[in-house]
Amino acid sequence: MGAVSDIRVDAIVIGAGFGGLYAVHKLRDELGLTVQGFDLAGGPGGTWWWNRYPGARCDIESVHYSYSFSDEIQREWEWSERYPAQPEILSYLEFCADKLDVRKEFRFNTRVTSTVWDDADKTWTVSCEDGTTCTARFVIAATGNVNIPKGGKEFAGLEEFTGEVYMSSRWPHEGVDFTGKRVGVIGTGSTGIQIIPVIAQQAAQLTVFQRTPNYAVPLGNKPVEPEQRRWNADNWQELRAHSRDRFLGAPYENPEPSALAVDPDERRARFDELWRQGGFQFLTSSYGDLLTDERANDTAAEYVRERIRETVKDPKTAELLCPTDHPYGTKRPALETDYFLTYNRDNVELVDVRSAPIEQVTATGVRTGGREYELDVIVLATGFDAITGSLLNLGFVGRDGVALKDRWADGPATYLGISVSGFPNLFTITGPQSAVALYNNPLAIEDHVDFATAAIKRVLDSGATTIETNTDAERAWGIEVEGILNRTLLPKANSWYMGANVPGKPRATYVFAGGAPLYRAMCKDVIDHGFAGFSIGDAPAPGIPPMVQLDPAVAMVVGAMLQQDMKPLEECTLEETREAIEGFAMMQNPIPDGVRVVETSYPGPADERPARIYIPSAAGEGPLPVIVYYHGGGFVAGSINACARPCGNLAEELGAIVVTPSYRLAPEAPFPAATDDTYAALRWTAETIAEHGGDPSRIVVMGESAGGQLAAVAAQRARDENGPELLAQVLLYPTIDAEAETASRIDYAGGPVISADAARGMWAGYLNGDLSQASSVLASPNRAESLAGLAPALVVSCECDPLRDEGEDYGHALEAAGVPTRVIRLSGLVHGVYNMSAYVPKVAEFNLCVAEFLQPLLSRTKVGV
Ligand code: NAP
Repeated sequence: MGAVSDIRVDAIVIGAGFGGLYAVHKLRDELGLTVQGFDLAGGPGGTWWWNRYPGARCDIESVHYSYSFSDEIQREWEWSERYPAQPEILSYLEFCADKLDVRKEFRFNTRVTSTVWDDADKTWTVSCEDGTTCTARFVIAATGNVNIPKGGKEFAGLEEFTGEVYMSSRWPHEGVDFTGKRVGVIGTGSTGIQIIPVIAQQAAQLTVFQRTPNYAVPLGNKPVEPEQRRWNADNWQELRAHSRDRFLGAPYENPEPSALAVDPDERRARFDELWRQGGFQFLTSSYGDLLTDERANDTAAEYVRERIRETVKDPKTAELLCPTDHPYGTKRPALETDYFLTYNRDNVELVDVRSAPIEQVTATGVRTGGREYELDVIVLATGFDAITGSLLNLGFVGRDGVALKDRWADGPATYLGISVSGFPNLFTITGPQSAVALYNNPLAIEDHVDFATAAIKRVLDSGATTIETNTDAERAWGIEVEGILNRTLLPKANSWYMGANVPGKPRATYVFAGGAPLYRAMCKDVIDHGFAGFSIGDAPAPGIPPMVQLDPAVAMVVGAMLQQDMKPLEECTLEETREAIEGFAMMQNPIPDGVRVVETSYPGPADERPARIYIPSAAGEGPLPVIVYYHGGGFVAGSINACARPCGNLAEELGAIVVTPSYRLAPEAPFPAATDDTYAALRWTAETIAEHGGDPSRIVVMGESAGGQLAAVAAQRARDENGPELLAQVLLYPTIDAEAETASRIDYAGGPVISADAARGMWAGYLNGDLSQASSVLASPNRAESLAGLAPALVVSCECDPLRDEGEDYGHALEAAGVPTRVIRLSGLVHGVYNMSAYVPKVAEFNLCVAEFLQPLLSRTKVGV
């Protein structure tokens, strides 16, 4: 394009890497918009245009590190190596730019200096260093995350150095000849680890200045044979299937749950296998708790250290190369080819600049630790002002003249990492607080561009001119992302993930660390709820969608379920449903040591049924209060095994005896079998519990989910039939009425975890497909003629549960009938969460609520919480 001073288009795209090329294609060819692109680089390629340093290579496999949106591109391009080198990726992106015919929409070699919102005109104006201005309704910032190099500012005297200085990300296109030269490399991140072995082969002497040793796992690169190349291109769909369902956005095998659950030999064998295989799988396919449990992480960290010690001959150098100050994977994991072996070469020296930081760059070298290292060349591989740097560099000024750099003075605040309040019609592709850095970039980018184009289409279709998020949505997102980050070990490192690599940059939440499937599910939920959290034109923004309301720990459980390809319950067969519910036992804290478990049975109306009694360690101090606990499982699933751990913990935490009776399940034994059994178990408990040290005059009936309904019905039967008199009823997120039509059944229709449809399916199973039975008070306790005279009630509901309102409504009806009642809603929690105590710390609040509620009722024995 020739010089143009004032351009007006529909949309501006900044950046011509994976994101920008695809964005121009989508906006122009799918939405029919006029688009102007800008890039400072001389051509398409983004990070791969800039990072031409020797050894530059991607460490996600070539077949996965590529676009997935075009069958044609996938089939026409063949990758020559397992992991593509920079020249091949650059050629690929040039090929894509030509294929999509998008080069002509870009002005290259053009630096954007400011991007300013005009609220009267509802447009952005981009100004460039060459005087060009461009005005458009929408801006897509596809500037990448690691492209503003830190440079040499941190090294006093660098400008005095008389030799050559190179930055890895601004490498001369003609290359650099190191032959016969004394070279110093500063930095041992992913870049340093790639560049060092290559320079070592050429230079006369290489000095590596290392501040933090880095974990690195073999890359395992190899050429792809021509036949295989063709096969890969032809069968890309098969090869890439499930990519987006896995944590990293590549179809790697799912990990075992925990490194601590296997014996050391088995663990070592697994690490050995993945080490041999090479690649990111060492982290992603070994054990699922490496990034969340420091003890689990230590097993992998120590394994890597052992391999370093094995590889590097000089023990002092080996020790210096062993990372100990941060857990494995908390800095971006590096992958290596001959990196550690390089330190066995005679021409390579490792200098520790942690214990003695670089004091000065002199005219002839680098001074540290009182010694001067004479050098001809200095290579800076010192990293980037990552994630926010490239956006702030575009000089954004939003509504009311607010500069983005001021808005983000304490760290970024965004919604989904794609939108910022006060900056309408701006979309940041893989922006801060998105799954950036932990999601295979080409796919993450496609997702974001798809989101942005869907949003723009929605604006245009609705005849509006703007789309903008708000501070409520940003706040919710910030809490979610920070909460997830803090559940991981990532904050334990001073990395660019944390903003901790640039002096003066705020340490904050820059990355969404929950993995690709969770992130995608959250974005989908936003779209499914009508772009929830966004205002389109003057219309008020729909509130925050369920997935973004989740307690961060719950969100991580949901993310793990998504990665395991768990079917939604409504799509499961009865056997699958039962297996899934039994599987919850894996997510529960173990039974405390002191609790004694008695296996027994009770006479049910149809048969003798198993029951279990949990006696807390405090037993012996007199008759204890008794909790008769009914498990959940939608009347069709669940067992006294599945709820064993919660019951053991309940006994210990409340200092009460807990009795769990089994009951007959539908559809084999439909309504009213379950209530007949559970009521019989209650009566049997009252008659026999004194034998185990329980106080029959202080019985609480309690249940979770469908068990909550059975507890509510048992409380009514105890009032209306033959007792016993109850101290209280505790209903944890009970389902109350098969035909409930509540707001929560609509707002949380899709769950997460349980959907309204799944609940309806379970009710249908219980009522044998005959919903007219729902009118029976034994099915729907809310339909009782009177609720007066029932035992005091505690209802604990979960905010993000389709069944929330029916439980709360029942609590309020009890209260209205004069029953002492408390209704407590726990925010961010989901149906079934009482069974996730090992992963969701907030589950502890259930038993605290129960203890607090029961305390005044239990005047004779103190509850031991
Ligand atoms: P980086 O990970 O931030 O590493 C920078 C290195 O420079 C670190 O070793 C750092 O030490 C050191 N350093 C920084 N300032 C220093 C100072 N003042 N004195 C001494 N040492 C200093 O940067 P990077 O290696 O360029 O990698 C950045 C990201 O780019 C990667 O994490 C990755 O996402 C991407 N990348 C990918 C590939 C690939 O696909 N294979 C390759 C290269 C880069 P400290 O650790 O002590 O701060």
